[in-house]
Amino acid sequence: ALHESKSMGRKRVSVFHPDMQKRADEQLEMERRLHSAIRNQEIAPYYQPKVDRYGKTRSAEALARWHTRDGGTIPPNQFIPIAENTGLIVELGKQLISSVFAFAYDNLERFERHGLCSIAINISARQFLDTGFSDFVIDEARRIGIDPGFFILEITEEAMMQDLNHTISALQRLKDQGFHLSIDDFGTGYSSLRYLKDFPLDELKIDKSFVDHVVKNRSERAIVMSIIDLALNLDLNIVAEGVETREQFDLLCKHDCQFFQGYLFSRPLPQDQFIEQLAKHETA
Ligand code: C2E
Ligand code: CA
Ligand code: CA
Repeated sequence: ALHESKSMGRKRVSVFHPDMQKRADEQLEMERRLHSAIRNQEIAPYYQPKVDRYGKTRSAEALARWHTRDGGTIPPNQFIPIAENTGLIVELGKQLISSVFAFAYDNLERFERHGLCSIAINISARQFLDTGFSDFVIDEARRIGIDPGFFILEITEEAMMQDLNHTISALQRLKDQGFHLSIDDFGTGYSSLRYLKDFPLDELKIDKSFVDHVVKNRSERAIVMSIIDLALNLDLNIVAEGVETREQFDLLCKHDCQFFQGYLFSRPLPQDQFIEQLAKHETA
């Protein structure tokens, strides 16, 4: 009940109810399973293409999928928040980063042939604020022998706003090593536009919630157009997330959006299928 009160915003009274016990037990069980999933490396990245205005795959975002022993797949929204709350995300994040670096290393020549210039990796606030994070990614790229310039680190605007001094120095250090940096879910947090120019960013991703309404809702469209203008004026690449229809794509193209990601082009794919699809497009 105490936990419930705090999670509802403190200064509240919550009465204990048996459902709360049930939820706490479920949470604990999930935590236990997650521990063992990380130990057994059951969580691996899928890859979703980011395409240009001609529909050609230019980049890809690595998205975690948990393959359970019974053959099922658990999506990230069911385990990333728990991994974040428990700190397990630090260990899991390292595994995923190593896996993405190794995938890129093994396929670099093929990617270059197909015009794929980068792979993006999501970084949670909890990972980004971990003091060893920058050292880990820098050392790991060196150990595997891959150019940091091939990677984009996607950090949500919420994560960037948590500790500004840390954010600016950590971002600058990663940038100096060659990593590209992207601000994720743009427009959903409470970021101040003032900081946008202080962060050494390369890319801005417009959140799916705006893209969803860009065709039908005039004010959402105005917001999207302003974000695109802002990004272009700050020399940032601009990516629209969650593009599902041809109408959304056409409209975003018309308003100078450069890159697109969404089910209209492809769902996130296991690495072998992702490679197959790249090759297919080449011969088509
Ligand atoms: P995100 O970074 O905003 O990733 C985009 C999400 O939108 C992905 O969900 C993707 O599958 C989904 N998506 C892409 N196109 C479409 C579309 O056209 N329609 C719809 N309905 N959805 C689309 P996913 O894979 O379930 O990931 C959810 C979130 O989990 C991600 O949101 C990210 O915040 C987090 N996440 C995923 N993988 C990782 C990871 O390796 N590390 C960390 N720290 N977080 C991760
Ligand atoms: Ca992302
Ligand atoms: Ca996003």
